[in-house]
Amino acid sequence: MRVKVMGSAAGGGFPQWNCACQNCSRLRAGTLRGKPRTQSQIAVELAPDRWCLLNASPDLRSQIEATAELQARATGDKSSRISPIAGVILTSGDLDNTLGLLLLREFQPLQIYATPSIQEITTEENTFFRMLRRVRPQAVWNDILPGEVLRLEGTSNDSAVRVEAIALPGGYPEYVDAERTAELPADEAVVALQVEAASSGRKLIYCPTLPEIGDELLSRFAACDLLLLDGTFWSDDELIRVIGGRRTAQRMGHIPITGREGTLERLRAITHPNKVYIHINNTNPILDEDSTEFAQLTAAGWSAAYDGMNFTL
Ligand SMILES: [Zn+2]
Repeated sequence: MRVKVMGSAAGGGFPQWNCACQNCSRLRAGTLRGKPRTQSQIAVELAPDRWCLLNASPDLRSQIEATAELQARATGDKSSRISPIAGVILTSGDLDNTLGLLLLREFQPLQIYATPSIQEITTEENTFFRMLRRVRPQAVWNDILPGEVLRLEGTSNDSAVRVEAIALPGGYPEYVDAERTAELPADEAVVALQVEAASSGRKLIYCPTLPEIGDELLSRFAACDLLLLDGTFWSDDELIRVIGGRRTAQRMGHIPITGREGTLERLRAITHPNKVYIHINNTNPILDEDSTEFAQLTAAGWSAAYDGMNFTL
């Protein structure tokens, strides 16, 4: 099972259009040794020419064009619009994870997997998403429930993958009003995804948002082979220090990398998986590959995801 990182930044990307922090300014000036990054987006191979996307980022169009495996194929007959993208699995209803669905609306048959609550808020609170339901077959929405294993078929038994959603204690997006949010089940708002290759039994965990970390989640992380984890912020007060923001990383639903409760420390004893930080905010010092923070990360056995990074499980 191949895994492709099509985008590795947090919402806004790197550089971010309205940001002139040190990282963004130096990247624009060409004085930072580091890579520009689009907003987080993953693709997982189900079979040759058959891929599933994990979320649908606002940068999806350019990400598809930058990824040869995901570009449309000519078939020889008149129906030449054949895309290798078979489906999309959503981890939340946030615009950063769903806006890209609107870019896939050209009457393309598509399977979309999400918790019932994410489906409900996406399609009912945002009427734009009805553009995905104009003809049949177009987008077909499917339930994925925390704790249940979903099997996505490739073209043979060998190429199937098993997907499990892991409930995280995050909230619903702010476009959903408080009254509605209170009625929706808390465990369907934000999930991490565990994707297991049926042929090899090897597992990826994709967790771009990590609001809390408990023992059960830690043991899942320890048992996977590739961990793509929330690397949004280096420190809890990063946004306050760098751009004069008001909220800490924790209050925004992201455990920072450093600090006593940070993921670097909490996952120090977990050495089996390939540990990769993803969803990196443009203020994060690890984006500068000459920084002490980047060196510290590498020394601790982690890497920082970049666009175009590939893995095989
Ligand atoms: Zn910036």
